[in-house]
Amino acid sequence: MMRDPAWHPSFPDVGSAAGRCKSSRTGNEAGERSRGTKIEPGRPPRYIAHMTSATPAPLGAKLPILMPPHPSLRARTRRVAPSDMDQVRALLPDMFATMYAAPGIGLAAPQVGVGLRFAVIDLMPDETPAPMVLINPEVIRVSEDWAVREEGCLSLPGQYADVTRPARVAVRYQDADFATHEIEAEGLLAACLQHEIDHLDGVLFVDHLSALKRNMLLRKLAKERKQMAAQIAPQTAQG
Ligand SMILES: [Zn+2]
Repeated sequence: MMRDPAWHPSFPDVGSAAGRCKSSRTGNEAGERSRGTKIEPGRPPRYIAHMTSATPAPLGAKLPILMPPHPSLRARTRRVAPSDMDQVRALLPDMFATMYAAPGIGLAAPQVGVGLRFAVIDLMPDETPAPMVLINPEVIRVSEDWAVREEGCLSLPGQYADVTRPARVAVRYQDADFATHEIEAEGLLAACLQHEIDHLDGVLFVDHLSALKRNMLLRKLAKERKQMAAQIAPQTAQG
């Protein structure tokens, strides 16, 4: 997902490392954020999960981010096996570097041409890095209520649209040590988790829109890329 200042919530402190959902401790909104509170569309983003797998990532190399119609964005990924972990660990610094440079708050392996089921997220609460590695993430529960949130995607630069998704999700995943965790999330993190897991199934946020709106955004992206290529071409020809 793209990083958008408008999405920045006021974050609760990161809790204990127990790997379980924890209520927010942030001031006067804590009551509103208790379990079962309906999230109204358009409300400021909130989240209640904490990040047990936060792994400080050394910065790696920036990778090219793929855009439609690249087939990598439409392919289902293969689950990461323990024997894949060396490859995954080697890629993580590059994934984080690519995401931070974009800048973005999430990046899934297919966006850099890797067909394995993993993604990285960092919502940068209070502008502080909180990297999260999600290996084999899967949504195991969703709330009955829905939330609408504006989303973007590093693979669809400059394109934004309101996307409706379950307001809260529980996600099971493995961290960079291949330890299994379960978290519950709402608000921005819930949307980001669903967005990145979608990528691992070959789904883009525009697939949640009407065909009319989706085609409009994809055509706009293609047009903008063409214009950008036309602007860059004369300069590169000289250089
Ligand atoms: Zn995306």
